[in-house]
Amino acid sequence: MNKLLAVGTVAFDAIETPFGKTDKILGGSGTYVALAASQFGVETGVVSVVGADFPASYLEMMHAKGINTDGIEIDKNGKTFFWSGKYHNDMNSRDSLITELNVLETFTPVVPDNFKDADILMLGNLHPLTQASVIDQMAKKPKLIVLDTMNFWMDIALEDLHTVLKRVDVITINDEEARQLTGEYSLVNAAKKIHTMGPKYVVIKKGEHGALLFNEGKMFFAPALPLAEVFDPTGAGDTFAGGFCGYLAKTEDISFENMKNAVIYGSNLASFCVEKFGTERMESLTADEVKKRLYGFKALTQFQI
Ligand code: AMP
Repeated sequence: MNKLLAVGTVAFDAIETPFGKTDKILGGSGTYVALAASQFGVETGVVSVVGADFPASYLEMMHAKGINTDGIEIDKNGKTFFWSGKYHNDMNSRDSLITELNVLETFTPVVPDNFKDADILMLGNLHPLTQASVIDQMAKKPKLIVLDTMNFWMDIALEDLHTVLKRVDVITINDEEARQLTGEYSLVNAAKKIHTMGPKYVVIKKGEHGALLFNEGKMFFAPALPLAEVFDPTGAGDTFAGGFCGYLAKTEDISFENMKNAVIYGSNLASFCVEKFGTERMESLTADEVKKRLYGFKALTQFQI
């Protein structure tokens, strides 16, 4: 069984969608990645930082899911990272209203010894220098390094992002961010340009319009499952990434052919994430529900020529 290490934010989020508004609830890229990966029963560890205000019950919930939180530092002198976002009516776009880095400002990640040999390293959305520092601490090069990022880091740390991109195998990025990173409107051209920046595999997430996987001239597309109710898209991208990595870790196969399956497994999990606010749906999700919906995915895309 492959070991998976995820680094990312463990956060408080306050979210507003056309369906309602939340106070501070559990969020963060690392949280969503780990919750998704926990569906695959692989050994999963998280590296992050929280403040003294972070409830122990959230960590206990992660433990109950089999997630190793030894790498989540509790900074007694600081406040947990806080993000607030508001979705537009189409739910495909949002505005970040508040990003308070708090404990992240001084965060130096420490990879626990028993995860220094992880096979798959998921560099979730975080400062590119923090992502790079985690790569530096690995005892051996992971079989696969996957990186996720967002416009926030392109705006304030583009050079550092370019440096870490040279060291990763896969990037997962949403369509608008791929355009921002490359200056290309066409996603095919954007993927080509991103290949030249380092990642051999490029996954472009298109929200409710699915995801594209590119590798050396090859391309694969997975739709998002059309849902009657989308409540809150927060974390869908990270859930996708966690599902993608979790599946690859479980199957121990990082070929392009198997990555196609990983894209479907990631999309499947993301389709649950959006059904409730925050992490609620991912916390209650069962293996049976996941399996049943996978068949829905298959039926959605199969046809004969
Ligand atoms: P997603 O909807 O998949 O893009 O991820 C949303 C999650 O990312 C939220 O739970 C936030 O806490 C977290 N987040 C928002 N902004 C940032 C940022 N600049 N760096 C890292 N994580 C962030």
